[in-house]
Amino acid sequence: MTNKIDPKLMRDLERFGLKDACKCAHCGNCTAMCHLSTPDNPFPRRFVRYIQLGQRDKILSSAEPWLCYYCGECSERCPRGADPGETMMVLRRYLTSAYDWTGFSRRFYTSESFELVAVAVVAGLVGLALWFFNTGHPNWEHADVNSLWPAASVEIADLVMAGILSFLLLSNSYRCVKFIMGDLLGKVPLRIYASQLKHLVIHGATQKRLGECKDRMPWYVHLLIMTGYATVFLMVVVLLNGLGSEGWKFQRGWPEYPLWNPIRLAGYYATFGIMYGTTYAILGRLKKSRPAYKNSHATDWMFLILLQATTVTGILIHVARLVDWPAGTYGLYAVHMMAAIPMLVLEVPFAKWAHLAYRPLALYLVEVKRQYHAEASAPEQTAVAVSPEQGRA
Ligand code: SF4
Ligand code: SF4
Repeated sequence: MTNKIDPKLMRDLERFGLKDACKCAHCGNCTAMCHLSTPDNPFPRRFVRYIQLGQRDKILSSAEPWLCYYCGECSERCPRGADPGETMMVLRRYLTSAYDWTGFSRRFYTSESFELVAVAVVAGLVGLALWFFNTGHPNWEHADVNSLWPAASVEIADLVMAGILSFLLLSNSYRCVKFIMGDLLGKVPLRIYASQLKHLVIHGATQKRLGECKDRMPWYVHLLIMTGYATVFLMVVVLLNGLGSEGWKFQRGWPEYPLWNPIRLAGYYATFGIMYGTTYAILGRLKKSRPAYKNSHATDWMFLILLQATTVTGILIHVARLVDWPAGTYGLYAVHMMAAIPMLVLEVPFAKWAHLAYRPLALYLVEVKRQYHAEASAPEQTAVAVSPEQGRA
């Protein structure tokens, strides 16, 4: 990476929501507050400095913005109102768009009208697909979604979509690795990448760094949303057709499963987790109850609205199926899909859900680099520790 000065950087970051970085007078309060700061890494002040100096390449090659979980303590202590916590959030949006080779993420983050049109177009296409591709013979006696859109067909569409989204997310993640590792990418032995994999798994599954913040509530909320989402994703994408069996079809046939069926209980857990988490975040953003909720970007709202619309319509489908109302069930199912698919297609590879991949990846790469440098400097330290006389002896 070169170290060019880019005078357009600040203006560019303003399109991602940057407001106050130029107010920073480098007093160092934020660095004193932030637990990520070390004597040789004055975080987050160093990044505010990069922005002021137009050092785009330094930002692009950094993993640190992903280490910040936006506890907001730095912003609360900033005497100049420069809001360094929000600045780190802006950098994460910017990095997400920089990793995305399609350019879609950049458009999504920098234009509210593009975001709205993208959601409307995907929702419209889903509606048309449901209108044109169905059996044409709905069961009007009972609320049976399978009679109109068979689980086997929907599952094939789900798996094709999951394949495309995985390709986009993985290729963007590879660019994230290239940016962060830079020249080290080919130099670090595979053995070191493998030895640090546990960090990728632990941080991906638990987000435990967020749990280290003084206020643990955001961590609980994240865990509820994440586990709820993962549960329902497994049931409606991977296991929708029950792997060919009759026992695993979520929200599909008639009658509904008995109350204590594990599929039904898993659905209730997922619904509770996502509803609680998204309602907490929406109310927090409305009340601006914590630093992370004070500055809401349009994409934050879109993410929460789509996720909650997906969940609410899912609950309504469940109620319509319980009272055995066929027309209501089929109509709600169509609306549900028109909210769920844009949320997946737009958020997984290009926006908020992509953070779930980049953050643990960055934490993992930090450990890979640390291990590499530790091994590279070990012989030098040994050489320093052994005096010339000892060496001759
Ligand atoms: S506390 Fe505010 S003014 Fe001081 S270094 Fe941090 S961002 Fe700059
Ligand atoms: S929000 Fe918290 S973790 Fe992030 S830079 Fe500020 S003090 Fe550090």
